[in-house]
Amino acid sequence: MTMNEVNSITNYVVVGGGTAGWISAAILSKALRNQPHKISVVESPDIPTIGVGEATIPSFVDLLEYLQIPLAEFVAKTGATFKLGIKFVDWKQKGHHYWHQFGEVGNKIDGVDFYQHWLKHHLTTQKYEFTDFSPAVALAKQHKFFISSPEHPTNLSKSTFALHFDASKVAKFLKQYCLSHGVEYVPAKVCDVTKHNDGSIYSLVTDEGKELEGDFFFDCSGQRALLIGKALRVGYTNWQHHLPVNSAIAVQSESRGEIPPYTESVALEHGWRWRIPLQERIGNGYVYCSDFCSDENARQTLLANIERPTSEPRKITFTTGVRQKIWDKNCVAVGLSSGFLEPLESTSIYLVMRTMLKFVQSLPSAQLFQPTIDEFNRLMVNEYEYIRDFIILHYCVSERQDSDFWRMWQHMELPDSLKYKLELFKCQGRLMDNYYDLFSHESWYAVLEGMGVRPRSYDPAINNSDDMLVAQALDKSFAALQVSASKCLDHKDYLDKLIAAFYRATA
Ligand SMILES: Cc1cc2nc3c(=O)[nH]c(=O)nc-3n(C[C@H](O)[C@H](O)[C@H](O)COP(=O)(O)OP(=O)(O)OC[C@H]3O[C@@H](n4cnc5c(N)ncnc54)[C@H](O)[C@@H]3O)c2cc1C
Repeated sequence: MTMNEVNSITNYVVVGGGTAGWISAAILSKALRNQPHKISVVESPDIPTIGVGEATIPSFVDLLEYLQIPLAEFVAKTGATFKLGIKFVDWKQKGHHYWHQFGEVGNKIDGVDFYQHWLKHHLTTQKYEFTDFSPAVALAKQHKFFISSPEHPTNLSKSTFALHFDASKVAKFLKQYCLSHGVEYVPAKVCDVTKHNDGSIYSLVTDEGKELEGDFFFDCSGQRALLIGKALRVGYTNWQHHLPVNSAIAVQSESRGEIPPYTESVALEHGWRWRIPLQERIGNGYVYCSDFCSDENARQTLLANIERPTSEPRKITFTTGVRQKIWDKNCVAVGLSSGFLEPLESTSIYLVMRTMLKFVQSLPSAQLFQPTIDEFNRLMVNEYEYIRDFIILHYCVSERQDSDFWRMWQHMELPDSLKYKLELFKCQGRLMDNYYDLFSHESWYAVLEGMGVRPRSYDPAINNSDDMLVAQALDKSFAALQVSASKCLDHKDYLDKLIAAFYRATA
């Protein structure tokens, strides 16, 4: 066969119509727009989606751009609000809080990381917190919001943002997007899978006896993992010994009018609680470890911590871990079927996007090349491991000792990769450079410092800088951020204005 005769895969079948299914179909339809293809999404009308997953990270905004979905339209139609980061409450110890911001914190001084300069200054003056130099935190603390334009940079430009949204509205929105981009919707329950002689998937059989053939399949069936787990029998690497939370109770509550532009994560006796403010309501949940806490205890604790619930509390169970192979034969697992790392840093929907964007960069021809599949799997598992380490960090350095759950963390066996990162940091505050780590150095610094983990000494490279000039630069930068943030619109006013402008333009 010559180079010109490569046969393309044309018939793609996605099983599942949750966030993973519709994001997968949307990315695929965009990536394949200029070549012959057919994409079908098969969804059982009787099996509900997981219905949680309402906080994102900034790459979700990049996805909207990639799909050419205007931000204002998305915000107007999905109950979305802006998110500038996460406020972590009671994680280090009760009564303490810190921020994990989106975007940058400070600027390098004399070519050395801002963190190092801040640390030296802080050790002598105790004057500022590290994230006092984050534009996103300056805005978040004042409940303000602002999107800078690249043409008019300001000292807030280095803030980035993500979205909170109503998961059911997002599934509907993305479904409409997909249907208008030629994706076919098949409402049917898949109850069997037929295979080729080589073990790859040939077709799906529905409960009405219909057979749906395809060249390539995406398993977006959620925790059921119908294709990757049940049909292809790819195993699951269980990470519960590193990340033991395994249950959540979720409930919605009434909005109190004000809309903070951040997610709140509050550490509780047996886990932690999320609070995600949307336009019309608040999403709440308690993530806990069932070895230490009964479902009833979790339900009561959650209800005691929120005002005016508007839905019945719902229990969800999960197993932290990752599929041994995310791509096997002619099937890629996307979403909960591929793994789950618990919702602490809102990384699941990111991993859905990442899996699909990596897939379209590794687009197979009809002949599937094993090295392409192996490389895809290697990179995806690396990503999961980097995120896993970052999530464990939030727990393993906590000083809390007030329950068996928190005392367990004092003796928890950490992954070698995280031990290495912590040892490196604890010497001189240096961090590993991992190209594929979703979390930047600033994110690691924010959580390490927020949790009170300090290096033994700072980087001697900063001794080249004049302490007095650094101190003046910090004072100036802090004051300027507060002033700039105070001049921005309140988050709620920003949303109201954006949504009104969208409806005016489309009236
Ligand atoms: C407690 C909790 C909180 C979370 N919070 C966040 C968060 O804040 N941010 C974040 O990014 N992620 C979060 N996640 C993860 C997020 O919810 C999921 O990654 C995301 O919703 C994708 O889910 P999914 O589409 O894979 O599965 P699901 O939503 O479960 O969808 C599965 C789909 O498969 C279909 N299906 C199943 N079986 C069949 C069948 N036999 N035939 C046909 N169709 C079938 C169902 O009908 C459904 O449409 C959270 C998860 C949990 C458990």
